Amino acid sequence: MLQDLSFLDEVKTCPHCKQTLSLCEAPPIHVGDGLGWGSDVLFICLNDSCSLFLNGWDKIETQYGHHASYRYMELPGSPEGNCMMVGNADAFKASLIDKEQLLNQNERYRLEKEATKQLESCVADNNLEPVMTLLLDEGAVKKSRITALGYLAEFNDLACIDPLRNHKFRDPAIEQKVNLAISEVLKSNFKKECSHCSEIVKAHAKKCMHCKENL
Ligand SMILES: [Zn+2]
Ligand SMILES: [Zn+2]
Repeated sequence: MLQDLSFLDEVKTCPHCKQTLSLCEAPPIHVGDGLGWGSDVLFICLNDSCSLFLNGWDKIETQYGHHASYRYMELPGSPEGNCMMVGNADAFKASLIDKEQLLNQNERYRLEKEATKQLESCVADNNLEPVMTLLLDEGAVKKSRITALGYLAEFNDLACIDPLRNHKFRDPAIEQKVNLAISEVLKSNFKKECSHCSEIVKAHAKKCMHCKENL
């Protein structure tokens, strides 16, 4: 997970073609490459009409005798230009970074971290929010979600039921534990869910006050 997203604000231009550089994931380091680029992302000119790229084929053919060319590249936070050797025009095009997706992922991660921290004192703070945040976050660490589940009965708050019922749990083990916790909360509040409309009604109700069906 990328922690420092300051590169998202950087706009870099290719000195050869004046096009804006594309943000790409850095390729995995191969044995023998040394330390790699020391960055998770690279800014690369992916313009197929860029003069560096167009002229590179002949240059490398003459100099090294193999079929490859150059793409212009800069690292985040540095104005220094580099030439990256590429074997074809499609290299790096598959590793383009979707900035919006990255921001969303990072926002989810930030909320998860915050909720995990608040979880320790959530009962003392009477704060159900971190519990719900973690339970409803399919990307959150399973251990934190299980811990959060343990607090549901303690809070004994009927307000937790609707969001949990409306959530699709991908992990059947968590879903089963959620269902158990909901039953406990209902029971200790002397409530049940209507078998027809799922609204919460009194445990002893003979008729649902919401859908009027007999229970
Ligand atoms: Zn260029
Ligand atoms: Zn009903």
